[in-house]
Amino acid sequence: MSPDFKKLLPEHAGHFINNAWLACQTTDDVLNPATGETIAQVAMGSKADADKAISAAKNAQKQWAAVPQPQRADYLHAFAQQIEKHKKALAALLTTEQGKPLSESIGEVEMAVTMIRYYAGFGWKRTGHVIASNHPQQQAITKEAPLGVVAAIIPWNFPLAIFARKTAPALIAGNTIVVKPSENTPLCSLALATLSKAAGIPDGVINVLCGEGSKVGDALVRHPDVQLVTMTGSTRAGKIIAKNAAEKVIPVSLELGGKAPFIVLADADIEKAAQDAIDARMANCGQVCICNERTYVQRDVYDKFMQALKKAADKVVVGDPMASKTTMGPKISAAEKSHVDELLAKSQKEGGTIFWQGKVPSDEKFKGGNWVAPTIITDLPANATILKEEAFGPILPVVVFDTIDEVIALANDCEYGLSSYLYTRDLHAAMQISDALEYGEVYINRYGPEEVNGFHAGWKLSGIGGDDGEHGYQLYVKQKTVYLNYKS
Ligand code: NAD
Repeated sequence: MSPDFKKLLPEHAGHFINNAWLACQTTDDVLNPATGETIAQVAMGSKADADKAISAAKNAQKQWAAVPQPQRADYLHAFAQQIEKHKKALAALLTTEQGKPLSESIGEVEMAVTMIRYYAGFGWKRTGHVIASNHPQQQAITKEAPLGVVAAIIPWNFPLAIFARKTAPALIAGNTIVVKPSENTPLCSLALATLSKAAGIPDGVINVLCGEGSKVGDALVRHPDVQLVTMTGSTRAGKIIAKNAAEKVIPVSLELGGKAPFIVLADADIEKAAQDAIDARMANCGQVCICNERTYVQRDVYDKFMQALKKAADKVVVGDPMASKTTMGPKISAAEKSHVDELLAKSQKEGGTIFWQGKVPSDEKFKGGNWVAPTIITDLPANATILKEEAFGPILPVVVFDTIDEVIALANDCEYGLSSYLYTRDLHAAMQISDALEYGEVYINRYGPEEVNGFHAGWKLSGIGGDDGEHGYQLYVKQKTVYLNYKS
């Protein structure tokens, strides 16, 4: 393990349960996606390990819920402070384990801090309502109660931010949590767990269980003591989780895939739209659920837009994610790289033309990395696979359209419904199109990221439930109504 990370993690980290390491006999390699080198060994847990993690969380929950909410907020502030203190080491760990450029990793650490501080702000929040009674000298009160043990199953694309996004609301509401990180990026979760211990968060409140989704993830979902499953990941896994959780009749919150349309009307600021189209496609090597997955440009400005798009694309620097000039790193894994390579080959077979393509690093050091050249592809038929299926990589298809009705139909002809983008200076068009888009998020004249006090929630196959803000918090509590008769 690189010396930078020794500060954050022991040489052989197992699971993190009850504020202690639990060794695991079965381990797997964690790889650096830029080089293919092994950076650490990580536990590949069993159902028995899942039982231990859940039992720790269950034993801690009542005591944690008894801590007054403003004091739970103090713990979260202390946690955020620890993360800030170790910002550089965490960012370096994230880049080494996940592959995003260091500048993006710094941004993700800051996002994690914001998410924790935001929910710490709920410490003094109202925790119920007084309801007018229909009877004299009576009152009805609704009170929030924690659910109990929360299982958070998280992906590899934002391993620090999504850990924080689920842990902070769970804890402020009085739940305890077992986080199951992706097999590709367990170290980020383990590092955050150690920092939560340093912040004084009591034993069993935050636990990290490592291993395969189909084993330990599945064990968490099916366990009788888990009362909420909040998962971010693929629609494929989300469907399995929803089905298994239904057997227990517990709530699930699923943040799944996306296929964001990026619409540019003729009156838009073309330079800005083109720059944002590239940024929104190439960020994190295209591995963001809100990425620009397909760009639609109105015919009158198509040529002008494509020139500006090329200019913006020429600024993409693919290379060593640790280098400050790099703007795009590798894909997370060999399997993910193959998926994107195959999709590009298929797009060409289906009639697509490569309009622009960047380079991948040629140095010997990066030979074993999962590199994909950023690419812009045009001339695709309306039913091209890349216009329907999530690419999750730096390949941008661009399609020309004529009318607003046509582009609304194209944008909505999709089984996903997470994010969408619209560029125009026409207020009427902006609001009318935004009303018509069947998406949980519409960004008008701006790229993401989503904001912590919004509600990040997908429609259609992009999920149910959601994260962030007051709506996101409500998923972590149940309500109790108390009817009180005070007539003497
Ligand atoms: P994935 O579905 O393969 O894995 C996500 C998590 O689910 C992992 O921890 C995995 O181990 C676990 N898992 C897999 N099968 C499981 C099962 N049967 N039971 C329980 N747990 C299981 O997804 P991924 O490849 O890690 O992430 C990429 C996907 O995530 C993309 O589709 C992307 O769009 C989506 N994503 C969505 C959002 C969002 O906010 N909507 C954010 C980030 C990523």
